[in-house]
Amino acid sequence: MTVAIVGAGVTGLSLGYLLLKRGIPVRIYEAAPHSGGLASTFRRDGFAFDLGPHEFVSDNPALKVLLQDVCGDDLLTVRKRVAQYFRGRALSYPFEVADVVRSMGAVLSARIVGEALLAPLRKDKSEQPNFESWTRAHFGSTLYDIYFGPYTRKVWGVAPTELDVATAKSRISVDSAWQLMKKTVAHHFFGEEEFENPHSELRHSFLYVRHGIGRLHEHLEQRVRELGGEISFGKRLANLERDDKRVRALEFDDGTRDSAFDYVASSAPLPLVAGLALGANDPRRVAVQKLPFRGMVFIFLRVKQPKTADFHWIYFPEPRCTFQRTTEFVHFGAEMAPPGCTSIAFEIAANPGEALWNKPDAELVKACVDEYVRLGWLEPENVLGADVLRVPHAYPIQVSGFRETADGLIDALGQFENFVTLGRQGLFRYCNINECLEMSLDVTAAIAAGQRSIRYQQATSWIGAFAEGGRDARPANISERTSSVRG
Ligand SMILES: Cc1cc2nc3c(=O)[nH]c(=O)nc-3n(C[C@H](O)[C@H](O)[C@H](O)COP(=O)(O)OP(=O)(O)OC[C@H]3O[C@@H](n4cnc5c(N)ncnc54)[C@H](O)[C@@H]3O)c2cc1C
Repeated sequence: MTVAIVGAGVTGLSLGYLLLKRGIPVRIYEAAPHSGGLASTFRRDGFAFDLGPHEFVSDNPALKVLLQDVCGDDLLTVRKRVAQYFRGRALSYPFEVADVVRSMGAVLSARIVGEALLAPLRKDKSEQPNFESWTRAHFGSTLYDIYFGPYTRKVWGVAPTELDVATAKSRISVDSAWQLMKKTVAHHFFGEEEFENPHSELRHSFLYVRHGIGRLHEHLEQRVRELGGEISFGKRLANLERDDKRVRALEFDDGTRDSAFDYVASSAPLPLVAGLALGANDPRRVAVQKLPFRGMVFIFLRVKQPKTADFHWIYFPEPRCTFQRTTEFVHFGAEMAPPGCTSIAFEIAANPGEALWNKPDAELVKACVDEYVRLGWLEPENVLGADVLRVPHAYPIQVSGFRETADGLIDALGQFENFVTLGRQGLFRYCNINECLEMSLDVTAAIAAGQRSIRYQQATSWIGAFAEGGRDARPANISERTSSVRG
């Protein structure tokens, strides 16, 4: 029994490692010249940058055991500070009431609180609820108009009415303004931290890996090699040879192929793989156009200053600011920059071909530097240098109907009894590392148990469905996963 794995991100590598631990040989094929995918760390001259903030949060004890096994002493617990830059102030989150009133003014604050109090009485009356209708109903129109609406347009690049409600439920870590107020008070006065959503910004701390989240895949890669697994880079899956029931061979864009496997697990983007697997005349192929990804441009700034701001990451919802979030890595670990220096990543949402994506690097860097100088956080002469990285598949865009579209393609791939698609891209699922690891645990257990047709869908819960000690050998389908994400 040999498994061929497509993609050497966290999903592909963790799956490889877990299968090898069960004595199942693997060959991993990665398009890029290195592993890591979205959970990579960019390094230059002693500075380290992740692709945006990468906090690891989960309530699943099996994951902490896995991380400890893989990362050992490199696993850190970090206390976090997060802020929203809004109306001329960095408002630390959980909010301080005085800060909010100073930023919004008494009248606006009172209006937001009034709408929050009325929110439980309001209902989303729209025929087909979407991001905008859900958020207006749950948070009030004032907060929507000044915050959620502009931020969402900026991040996703589409009208909030086109986005499925799932985006609101997964991006916003509380269900309503009322709940936010209750939790803020509970947190402020009673130090409460146990919220249902593991990625709630209200939680104080998260797990991280010393030297950057990229150390996770570096450790995984090392383990895979130690156990005899093969990893090949520069292997972009370009074709799937198949018959009605099985995938027979993988063909790569360098002209090589692999047909000596029993099973294939792919973490490459679902639309791409479905496009390759379905015949040119298959009517289901139309669906691959309906699952767009959002691209991201990362500006990594090396700065000769101990820090710029006091926060791990800061959101910038206002449209006038080019970037939507910044992350300062010295707060994640002193070793993320040379002594006396700091490293900052600016995130600018843009798709390939859009004006922002095509802007020359120097202009993007200047826009970021100018803004931080304007805020009084950065002295221009302290900028040592910058790098720009463009990532086309950062976020699956959950447009209305995406679940049915994605599930339809996953069903279509389910005709192959020796194939599973998984991971963030592979499921077109807006999920974090914790879910990727849960998928790997589950798929490993399923393959080891001899199960062949493994099909996960948008509403599948990963926790212990297949994993060792799990309840049964089938994934539990639940209507909405609450432990969702904001990464
Ligand atoms: C800005 C941002 C912030 C985030 N914040 C957090 C956070 O705070 N906490 C958290 O837990 N998670 C966070 N995440 C999510 C996390 O990075 C992902 O969930 C995780 O890295 C996905 O791993 P993956 O292996 O499934 O996919 P990927 O990392 O995308 O890996 C897929 C791999 O497949 C390769 N590939 C693609 N096509 C092909 C092909 N045709 N042939 C061969 N190989 C191919 C790719 O090169 C890539 O290496 C964040 C993500 C982003 C973008």
